Amino acid sequence: MKKIMVTGGKGMLGYGIQHVARLEPRDGYQFVFVDLEDGDLCDLAQTEALFARVQPQGVIHLAADVGGLYKNMAQGVEMFENNLLMNMNVMRCCRKFGVDKLVSCLSTCIFPELTLCPHVQMPIDESVIHMGPPHPSNEAYAYAKRMVDVQSRYYRKQYKSNFISLAPTNIFGPNDNYSPEHSHVIPALIRKCDAAMRQGTDFVVWGSGKPLRQFIFSFDLARLFVWAYFHYNDPEPLILAPDESQEVSIGRIAQYVADAFGYAKPLVFDTKYSDGQFKRTVTNRKLMSLNPSFRFTPLPEAIKTSVQWFQENMADARL
Ligand code: GDP
Repeated sequence: MKKIMVTGGKGMLGYGIQHVARLEPRDGYQFVFVDLEDGDLCDLAQTEALFARVQPQGVIHLAADVGGLYKNMAQGVEMFENNLLMNMNVMRCCRKFGVDKLVSCLSTCIFPELTLCPHVQMPIDESVIHMGPPHPSNEAYAYAKRMVDVQSRYYRKQYKSNFISLAPTNIFGPNDNYSPEHSHVIPALIRKCDAAMRQGTDFVVWGSGKPLRQFIFSFDLARLFVWAYFHYNDPEPLILAPDESQEVSIGRIAQYVADAFGYAKPLVFDTKYSDGQFKRTVTNRKLMSLNPSFRFTPLPEAIKTSVQWFQENMADARL
């Protein structure tokens, strides 16, 4: 049995891969889900001990210091350093322990901010990743994650390592992090709408609600990660995103959340809070050329599933 070790295995995307592994088991492969309690990947000795214990043939590296806009604005040092350390230690161990394949997770928020880079055209594709500065609100995280691409390519060149990286758009789904200040927008809205329903208060959305995002459901993304593990071997990162036509405003997303809860009052937008990046439209042309039959779950349905998960699992959720 070949072992595929999934770091960050108890986070949102790890939970998605657990779900996919149950539904579509792969003959001859076993997924091993590990998390912080199994070893701190910021520490090389602990990372080596973990690899020695698990002896993986492949690694899907999801562990990261991540968060939404407001965490990125408040904790740049930790997000920069922790991500660099984890990625460095994981790649070193993949080589040292003879791992056949490493899949790393980037994000489309690390691509150039187009208002600062007039030479880069919308929609963003894989080729422009280093062609200009990222949006200032998440610069620290973006530069740390951009180094994954650089480091992977050098391992590939020097040691023939099959290291790939995947760049999803905004992820949401069951088992998200629901911290009110530090989470991403959809889990934050789910938590706030739940509180507004219970307390009879307003459902307040931070910022103007006008920024646009392409959201991807974690169960869809999990299927794409498993597909990429077996089928994608290019040095270039691969963008994992729904079609450009599926880009939606934060206001529309908040309304989907309100609808899923049955919250009927008008939404309130608190413009004291920053909007962050206005938009960062990416193309999924390369993904769809390689995996043309893939179908994304419609957003309202995926949000309903996520809200239902939160309602059923609130006692155990990361709040
Ligand atoms: P981003 O896509 O990397 O900027 O990260 P987020 O998932 O944090 O989304 C940020 C966008 O959602 C910004 O336009 C915010 O103004 C908006 N937003 C609205 N309410 C919230 C909230 O409660 N939490 C977060 N994180 N963002 C919110």
